[in-house]
Amino acid sequence: MAPLFLPHPRLDELIRLLLAQGFAVIGPRVREGMIAYGEIAAAAELPWGWHDAQGPGFYRLTRSDAPRCFAWANGPQAIKPFLFAPQETLWRAEKKDGCLVFTPVTPAPRPLAFLGVRACDLAAATIQDRVFLGQAVVDPYYAARSEELFVISVNCTHPAATCFCASTGDGPQATAGFDISLTELDDGFLAEVGTQAGRDLLAALHLAPATAAQQAEAAQALAHAAQVQTRALPGRNLAAALFSRLEHPRWDWVAQRCLACGNCTQVCPTCFCHAEEDRPALDGSGTVHERRWDSCFSAGHAWLHGFQVRPEIRHRYRQWLLHKLAGWHEQFGRSGCVGCGRCIAACPVGIDLTEEVAALLAEADHGG
Ligand code: SF4
Ligand code: SF4
Repeated sequence: MAPLFLPHPRLDELIRLLLAQGFAVIGPRVREGMIAYGEIAAAAELPWGWHDAQGPGFYRLTRSDAPRCFAWANGPQAIKPFLFAPQETLWRAEKKDGCLVFTPVTPAPRPLAFLGVRACDLAAATIQDRVFLGQAVVDPYYAARSEELFVISVNCTHPAATCFCASTGDGPQATAGFDISLTELDDGFLAEVGTQAGRDLLAALHLAPATAAQQAEAAQALAHAAQVQTRALPGRNLAAALFSRLEHPRWDWVAQRCLACGNCTQVCPTCFCHAEEDRPALDGSGTVHERRWDSCFSAGHAWLHGFQVRPEIRHRYRQWLLHKLAGWHEQFGRSGCVGCGRCIAACPVGIDLTEEVAALLAEADHGG
């Protein structure tokens, strides 16, 4: 199906159709100095005229009279929290008649329609699906939340200085995982179909085909978005190279700066480490069993049967980078990095994984 053209003033019709179908529409909004996803009811809530500037340890929003609502790169928040909850109760146990009665707590999610998901976050969602749904045991909490989704991606034409999705092959253009894909121009969007559900929704809007000039402008903008990215990761499996550098002095150098705060793992759209704990009632009448996001930088995450398996920060940073860029290939068939750059901007001391990888690989005498 040839691309259609959705004028900006008709974006509200698209949102209204999704709401009428029972979806909660989740789109980007300006909140607390950042662009983050939340529930929206109208196109006016989108970040019209907002732009971002990002760098190592740096994120700022600015505003202009530009007529676009997607002239920015991903902010700190991915769509991950909507599917993999940062904190949730898994089950409860209560004492009744001398017995312990366990009650599972299953989420009752609403159908979600995401508006504006970027290519890197779609790639990350595919990875998370593999983690939570593609193993022998399916995670019922994640499964319930991802059961009924409608995804409208917006291709990235304004990458940040921290973005490197072109080098990981995950952006700036979405190629899969969406129902509808949009590319923004000054007066509207080029709209392309990914699924039958997307086709049906666009058919209800009776849109005109995009002109050849509009298609050429969108293609040029996407090519430019890839070309201007200055950061990169090597586009190959780094497992052998990184595992041969376990005692490289760079781990000590990065550990001198790293605060082990875990920001990088909290903003990362692919990180899935979590901890579970019980919250027992003081009177012994029962307990609530909870799961919350954890980080391989936390001391608790490295605590194993009475001792620390990763006592120093150098061990924790090494674990993070090696799992993300090396171990994932064996576990999930690809790297765990989609090039969104969030960990670079969110690191309070500006540690940049592309810089760390380049430094680790710089010496030829380690092989790999
Ligand atoms: S490691 Fe950093 S750049 Fe890669 S996906 Fe995670 S947050 Fe994004
Ligand atoms: S690399 Fe940066 S964000 Fe990650 S734990 Fe260290 S200081 Fe925090």
